Amino acid sequence: MSEPRHHEVIVLGAGVSGIYQIKRLVDLGLDAIVLEADEDLGGTWYRNRYPGCRFDSESYTYGYSFSRELLDEWHWKERFSSQPENLRYLNFVVDKFGLRRHMRFEARVEAMRWDEDRRVWELGLANGQRYTARFVVTGIGVLSTPAMPSYPGMDEFEGDAFHTYWWPKEPVPLEGRRVGVIGTGATGIQVIADIAEVVKELFVFQRRPNWSTPLGNSPISEEEMAEIRSRYDEIFATCAGTHGGFDHPPEPRRFGDVSPEERKALWDELYATPGFAIMARNFADIFFDEDANREMSDYVASRIRDRVDDPAVAEKLIPKDHGFATQRLPLETNYYEAYNRANVHLVDLSETPIERVTRQGIQTTAEHYDLDLIVYATGFDAITGAWDRMDVRGAGGATLRDAWRDGPSTYFGLMTHGFPNLLMLAGPQSVSGSTNFPRAIETGVDWVTAFLEHVTKQGATRFEAREDAEKEWVEEVVAAQERMLMRRSRGWFTGYNANVEGHDAGTFRYLAYWGGAPRYKERIDRLTDEGYPGVELE
Ligand code: NAP
Repeated sequence: MSEPRHHEVIVLGAGVSGIYQIKRLVDLGLDAIVLEADEDLGGTWYRNRYPGCRFDSESYTYGYSFSRELLDEWHWKERFSSQPENLRYLNFVVDKFGLRRHMRFEARVEAMRWDEDRRVWELGLANGQRYTARFVVTGIGVLSTPAMPSYPGMDEFEGDAFHTYWWPKEPVPLEGRRVGVIGTGATGIQVIADIAEVVKELFVFQRRPNWSTPLGNSPISEEEMAEIRSRYDEIFATCAGTHGGFDHPPEPRRFGDVSPEERKALWDELYATPGFAIMARNFADIFFDEDANREMSDYVASRIRDRVDDPAVAEKLIPKDHGFATQRLPLETNYYEAYNRANVHLVDLSETPIERVTRQGIQTTAEHYDLDLIVYATGFDAITGAWDRMDVRGAGGATLRDAWRDGPSTYFGLMTHGFPNLLMLAGPQSVSGSTNFPRAIETGVDWVTAFLEHVTKQGATRFEAREDAEKEWVEEVVAAQERMLMRRSRGWFTGYNANVEGHDAGTFRYLAYWGGAPRYKERIDRLTDEGYPGVELE
């Protein structure tokens, strides 16, 4: 067997995080490459090609902020840009900065072993190649491990069937077809609204409804884009200063300080405002206080009833088991109106569960549905799923999978005790899962870059998070989540996934930090200023 190839730094993943990270490492003059499992770059935006797939962060807050030139050159065509355009953008960035030559594709890392004597990571790839690296930085994604249900007969279905994450590159015919969509999370809601007009019959297999509010998409003209460009500094400053990292300044008033009429006036305004304003500009109390949340939920329920013609269908679309925004809020475009169409049928799995998939379709306890295409919009093994799929062995041979069996433990989502020289982008217990994703990514990459610069300048060859320092951070992560109403909800924020062993209802994980983007940044900046007190450097 040939000798493994060595690099000082290896970045895993050429998605939004990995692209920015390799740019910073190359600028630093470090010997670094990216290993990407897919055949090309883009991560989330390379994979999720399902109909209706688009941002629900404002496009101009999603792009990278690090290069003025880039900001000036790129025109976001829509306020909430769609997947093909997002993938074009990432390719544009990579080509502009000549980053492709630092990327290796079809390079899925299956195993990583820490060699304490040589102080390197040994990486084993699915294609048989081997690498070693002094430092590994992971950008393996928070929603990159799709989860499938396990209904009997799934292999026997004779039509097309795809998980939304694995949607093919080639166009999938929809016209004239009978389509079943399983799942009504952010993905299912986008698919359903997008294809309702096109397909012959659409059967939505819903187990539990989600709350959802209007996205408010619109085109961005040349003039509007010029205006946005002139305000980029202000936009990014607003994002940096707000809890969720969005371009929506917070509501200063408390829920209890204003009359029900004034609350309704604010909610009417927010319901008509694009994007996550309805969360970011709402009374903070709705996330913490049962009464405030109930009134808000009643408000959104009334908007759903207004939009759905059949009152019985409307009731099925209104969540009864969790309050508004206590699971990840999907944003929608004409989602509720889709159910007013004669060709769209809601199948309530809480009344008539799926028994099996057949050769021709789906059999519930009540009926058989003939289908040509089944769309599995059934979500992801979120945040730790990609880690659990790799065999990562740290100091002493302990596996990360075992260490995190009941939930992750990290130091600011950036490293984890027992696994030296390993840095994580969008890691568990950072703010990447809980705030505007790319803004948090830039925060993480900037920190990691400065840290690696410090380590290499010191001539250090080993670093590791201290156990006691990590414990303190995890306690803060737990405390922040426990303050919120979402702490007992059944969504990926709390690690729930009915299709993943150990993640079923009743188990709660602490996967993200809910203390807000500004506080998180302040805390990790302080680590830098104080010379990394929680990290042992040798
Ligand atoms: P999700 O929110 O986890 O939703 C999965 C859906 O599938 C749920 O409705 C779930 O029902 C259902 N489901 C799972 N297993 C099932 C089964 N065996 N039988 C019937 N139904 C089943 O996943 P997602 O919609 O893919 O969204 C995941 C995340 O991706 C989002 O929260 C968001 O962060 C991200 N995303 C972002 C965008 C965007 O930026 N615009 C778009 C799409 C997704 P239960 O709730 O009953 O388990």
